[in-house]
Amino acid sequence: MKFSTAIENQLNQAVTIIQKGGLVAFPTETVYGLGANALNSNAVTKIFEVKNRPVFDPLIVHVGCMEESEALVESFPPVAKQLAAAFWPGPLTLVLYKKKIIPDIVTAGFPTVAIRVPSHPIALELIHRCQCPLAAPSANRFGKISPTTAQHVKKDLETSIELILDGGPCSIGIESTVLSCLQHPPVLLRPGGIPLEQIEKLLGPIHSQFEKTGLSPGQLPDHYMPTTPLYLGKSIPPFLVQKKIGFLGFNSIPVLDSFAAVELLSPKGILSEAAAHFFSALHRLDQGGLDAILAEPFPNVGLGMAINDRLYKAAQKQ
Ligand code: AMP
Ligand code: MG
Repeated sequence: MKFSTAIENQLNQAVTIIQKGGLVAFPTETVYGLGANALNSNAVTKIFEVKNRPVFDPLIVHVGCMEESEALVESFPPVAKQLAAAFWPGPLTLVLYKKKIIPDIVTAGFPTVAIRVPSHPIALELIHRCQCPLAAPSANRFGKISPTTAQHVKKDLETSIELILDGGPCSIGIESTVLSCLQHPPVLLRPGGIPLEQIEKLLGPIHSQFEKTGLSPGQLPDHYMPTTPLYLGKSIPPFLVQKKIGFLGFNSIPVLDSFAAVELLSPKGILSEAAAHFFSALHRLDQGGLDAILAEPFPNVGLGMAINDRLYKAAQKQ
């Protein structure tokens, strides 16, 4: 693929930084990642420091193709091959037993590793040129709103990282679906960019265990949190009347309420469009000088399931 001169220059700098054990923020189709050489434990430690991420929360390892992932795991069962053939490159992460070559810091001490092949051309090129797998969580402070533009990364991490590769807004806009392939059939650990329905179309019914805690390490109930308190509901609750409220919804505004700001994620009612706009809208509302955000849950199908997962984690726990 041919890149602009600006991207070429950034890619060259990025490779040098990664090979020296530094960190680079880069675009993927899901959200922006904060990447380091996954085989260098000192480099990976810096990711945890910069993000202020607890070390019990394992990272996803990004590789360029299925063959590269096979080199990092003990076995790549037929069902994982089937999933990889169907959805890689793309927003699907597979959890498999790791080989020793992956440092424990990457997997939070677990014998398993989460792997995916991203589809963003800049991410793929970066992995290819670095000639190593990249461990990369989202490029934001732990627990905060995920970044879907280079500007979001800049706002949060500019002073702590050397380079942000700017590939424009992320096309999917929501993190990858995480599936554990340690058992058969695989288990959904986190809903994300590949809808559950598409996976079940391929494999038949699978279990979803993301609502229970402890199954996917690091899946804490408070995540994706704006600084402005966010409440879930279809209308402004009594304790927020008279306050400056922003609304985040799918395709329509509650008729009886009045809002200081409104973010409709897809007026036409298209879930993929809503997902792509979700985190940007949340960033804007969070910066809007509001007292609170009211968010309406999405239809719990397709990408709506992944959006709801983020909304529940972003919301105030009462
Ligand atoms: P993120 O913070 O978006 O990079 O997501 C990483 C998520 O992937 C973690 O929070 C876990 O839920 C999941 N994950 C990563 N490694 C593993 C693993 N070894 N076993 C199970 N889930 C994992
Ligand atoms: Mg994250």
